[in-house]
Amino acid sequence: MKKIVAEILAIGDELLYGQTLDTNSHWISGELDKIGIKVIRRTTVGDIEEEILTAFAEAESRADIILITGGLGPTSDDLTKPCLCKYFNCGLAIHPVALAEITELFKSRGRELTELNRQQAALPTACEKVTNLLGTAPGMWFNKGDKVFVSMPGVPHEMKKMMADIVLPKLMQQYKTPVIHHHIVKTVGIGESFLADKIAAWEKVLPENIKLAYLPSLGEVKLRLTGVGASSDEVKRDIETWVEKLKPYTDNYIYGYGDDSLESVVGRQLREKKLTLSVAESCTGGYLSHLITSVPGSSDYFLGSMIPYAYEIKMRQLGVKPETLEKYGAVSEPTIIEMANIVRAKFNADIGVATSGIAGPGGATPEKPVGTVWIAYSDKHQTVTRKLQLSQDRMINIRMASIAVLNLIRLSLPQ
Ligand code: AMP
Ligand code: MG
Repeated sequence: MKKIVAEILAIGDELLYGQTLDTNSHWISGELDKIGIKVIRRTTVGDIEEEILTAFAEAESRADIILITGGLGPTSDDLTKPCLCKYFNCGLAIHPVALAEITELFKSRGRELTELNRQQAALPTACEKVTNLLGTAPGMWFNKGDKVFVSMPGVPHEMKKMMADIVLPKLMQQYKTPVIHHHIVKTVGIGESFLADKIAAWEKVLPENIKLAYLPSLGEVKLRLTGVGASSDEVKRDIETWVEKLKPYTDNYIYGYGDDSLESVVGRQLREKKLTLSVAESCTGGYLSHLITSVPGSSDYFLGSMIPYAYEIKMRQLGVKPETLEKYGAVSEPTIIEMANIVRAKFNADIGVATSGIAGPGGATPEKPVGTVWIAYSDKHQTVTRKLQLSQDRMINIRMASIAVLNLIRLSLPQ
């Protein structure tokens, strides 16, 4: 099956000035992906004739389908329509149906039709009109050999309706496209390059129709497997097989799939095991508890947390021994062990976890630079600690430490 490829062309000075975010291209990409059309390039140009004409020609040289948004307003700054006339070597003529539709739209809004608006019904003679149900600028469909150009309005809701109701079904009719299926495998606790090393042998033998992408974010790396095939069932089965083959290479770095979040996976584990959780968080300042309680139904397992930020509160409210704090300091293994054990006992929970560290930018000492964080997990069988050396950035440290605790819970829960 021939691979059908598309290019998206967004037109408008406002996009290049940074005043309007090009959400249209993002949305169109997603919709084309769902019907098996691969987007090979997205281009943005201003309202300049020469730029627009060059972009048309370049897009035509690369893609089968060229989807254009923007530049269809009635005012003189919008140039897409005259450019399309030039490109397809044709004139403009009032389209009677388009004029009737625009007239009707104005009537329904109780407004008089101005000459500028009447001109919106003038379309290049080489195109087929594409109805705009939500606005005054019709879309335009051009066939050129086996290629297609579609010009749509820039206003997002008008473009989306036109695309969903008319353009996508018409593309599916005109082109036989393969099925594309994405599957996300989520890992935590290992950096992108280390993960790539670990799974190199698996990656090397991946078949042609399955592509792999590494998508790193703070503390996590997602692996996206994209399969292409003739039927949805076949592609999904293929991907499943390759995910199974991946597992032996990844130790226990995989925590979930698709829309799973680390906090929801940990929540699921706690609920299944009927265990309760309590938290004493110092350097994460409540962020860890926020993640845990972002999961619907977390009250089933989350009992509560304390944020003993000051020394005084660590001693008086939580109950860390003054000798421990004096001798080792707040950011230390003996302190974090006490914090996790005490919060578990105080809250009468099955699990206690704790964080204490130097989030930065101040507070560092030569032995404890910014980014030094201790975390601990405690249950009735064991207390597990980890020392983390994170970054110079406060918000990154807070998020990374919280993710590390969630991962520690995931890996330490009794079997
Ligand atoms: P136009 O078709 O050029 O008259 O665009 C009308 C309005 O649609 C602009 O003022 C923008 O607010 C919006 N718009 C145009 N292009 C885009 C785009 N690519 N993404 C999101 N909004 C857009
Ligand atoms: Mg414009």
